[in-house]
Amino acid sequence: MKLIFEKSQPGRRGGELPRYDIPPAKVPEELRRETPPRLPELAEPEIVRHFTALSTRNFGIDTGFYPLGSCTMKYNPRVNERLAMLPGFRDLHPYQDEDAIQGALELMWRLQEALIEVSGLHACSLQPAAGAQGELTGLMLMRAYFAERGEADQRDTVITADTAHGTNPASVTMAGYKLAKAETDARGNVDVAHLREMVNERTAGLMLTNPSTLGLFDEHIEEIAAIFHEAGALLYYDGANLNAVCGISRPGDMGFDIVHINLHKTFSQPHGGGGPGGGPIVVRDKLEPFLPAPAVVKDGDRFRLDYDRPKSIGKVRGFTGPFGVFVRSYAFIRSYGPRLREMSEVAVLNANYLLARLKDGYELPFDRLAMHEFVLSARRLKREHGISALDVAKRLMDYGFHPPTIYFPLVVPEALMIEPTETEAKETLDAFADAMLAIAREAEEDPEVLRSAPHGRPVGRLDEVLAAKRAIVKYGFEEHPDLGSEPAAPPQLEAQKGA
Ligand SMILES: *Cc1c(COP(=O)(O)O)cnc(C)c1O
Repeated sequence: MKLIFEKSQPGRRGGELPRYDIPPAKVPEELRRETPPRLPELAEPEIVRHFTALSTRNFGIDTGFYPLGSCTMKYNPRVNERLAMLPGFRDLHPYQDEDAIQGALELMWRLQEALIEVSGLHACSLQPAAGAQGELTGLMLMRAYFAERGEADQRDTVITADTAHGTNPASVTMAGYKLAKAETDARGNVDVAHLREMVNERTAGLMLTNPSTLGLFDEHIEEIAAIFHEAGALLYYDGANLNAVCGISRPGDMGFDIVHINLHKTFSQPHGGGGPGGGPIVVRDKLEPFLPAPAVVKDGDRFRLDYDRPKSIGKVRGFTGPFGVFVRSYAFIRSYGPRLREMSEVAVLNANYLLARLKDGYELPFDRLAMHEFVLSARRLKREHGISALDVAKRLMDYGFHPPTIYFPLVVPEALMIEPTETEAKETLDAFADAMLAIAREAEEDPEVLRSAPHGRPVGRLDEVLAAKRAIVKYGFEEHPDLGSEPAAPPQLEAQKGA
């Protein structure tokens, strides 16, 4: 398929801008560009066809099943979009007066209240824009808390699990803490004996996902919380897997002190293309003074932004955060109302149904009741037929499914991490299970078809290391000797190259 630049014809127009009715501004000579910008020139129907054709090459939750473990790719109800597009929400300006944005502030306050309820904790900040930013913010709160107690220098270590998402160790390091990793035991829980050995007066806290990225609820969570609290440390809950327990069990009741919630996972947002997302944090009362400012507060019947927070770690995001995300998640939560726990119940049911259908075709390293996701291993296929988790994932695309998360968590070799979510019908789950089992048979009978998959896609397998290390982000402009057969620059671009 041609790029829009290749389709461009000089002088062709898609629309006309209105004539200026104001005098043109005088742009200083040194700021003026010397050559016209490189913009594609096309008529409107060509533009529409171009982008419509591109959109059909995209895979999204609206086109098919997307069991990307840990990412919670659930269907996004259309009512969310309708509400986010209400002019009063859509056209908000960040510098509007508080009087003029009472509805928006009320929505934020109500969303905070809902997240406080779901977490079983006491105060919330909506500012962080993603799970990873919530983690960093939470660790900054941890530091502020210990600084006030005069323990910040002494407590320099944060413990994570060896099943942790990569953002956990990264956040620990970015927040200036030393990292220590706790091992997973034979049942898939955090190894409590190992934890006991690790925790001491230097420990600031634990970061844990529960259920873990193995999709297993930790059977010793209360004992673990006690170990850390007795040592004077705090517990951080990575809420990315909240879809498993929402409305059923609460991180605050499990003993966690700080929680981030991935709004784009549990509470539905179109995500997966890099955002926008939301990673609000919710904390126990003793941490509230340190939360980012401004806080959205309610005074009688009015809502306002409270900047008067002397102990706050400060702002972690511009203005009030990703507002459209708040509207969608609030709409989603209110659509369920008091039946919110059904979301998690069905998510867990769907995962266990798929697990039961797949456990004969693939190895199941931890054979326990799963939560909202589960992790299989392609280890046997690898050993017997030389077929890897990557081959299985690529072949699934030929069957019309988005592959699951693979090679994660790291503790499972040839991992296939499958999260169906609550929004899939039984027929879809069955079709996916049939495809997975067919692929396991193909591994035996026709392994070559797996090794060369996917078939009939615009691109097959990329050299992912090279693609990341030597990314070509401008088509046709870069010389890349390593890559050999790079497409030549389209003629009209070639002409502009020297300019
Ligand atoms: C997605 C995820 C994160 C990071 O969240 P982002 O919103 O992508 O930054 C952290 N932990 C787990 C377990 C996750 O699945």
